[in-house]
Amino acid sequence: MVYDNSNIFAKILRGEIPCQLVDEDDYTLSFEDINPQAQVHVLVIPKNPYVDWTDFTKRASKEEIIKFIKAISRVAKKKGVTKTGYRVISNIGLDGNQEVPHLHMHIIGGRPLGPLLERKE
Ligand code: 5GP
Repeated sequence: MVYDNSNIFAKILRGEIPCQLVDEDDYTLSFEDINPQAQVHVLVIPKNPYVDWTDFTKRASKEEIIKFIKAISRVAKKKGVTKTGYRVISNIGLDGNQEVPHLHMHIIGGRPLGPLLERKE
């Protein structure tokens, strides 16, 4: 999939729409999800344009990948969920139900989250 510069996270990165910042470094931006699914729901995104995890792991530098993974842990610590636990989710593509085509990790916690998926078959 070709990266679409008009997606909502690209607009946040360009400062065209606001976000509630949680964490930032040279390669990543982390901000509160606009529609939180739990007390803690933060999105961690790379600053460079990647559609999803597949695209990211193919094209990103090692430094970028390491910084991205470390940002996830830093956000969990900042939000106080390291001891109680949390979930890291990345929705990818159609079956993954990805709505925004810019790679993002959902950091969700602050309450018991239950099973990962409801079985619907
Ligand atoms: P996806 O379904 O692509 O994995 O998740 C997209 C996430 O982005 C959703 O949890 C949704 O609530 C969040 N989101 C969509 N638009 C905005 C926005 O304008 N600002 C913020 N902070 N989050 C957004």
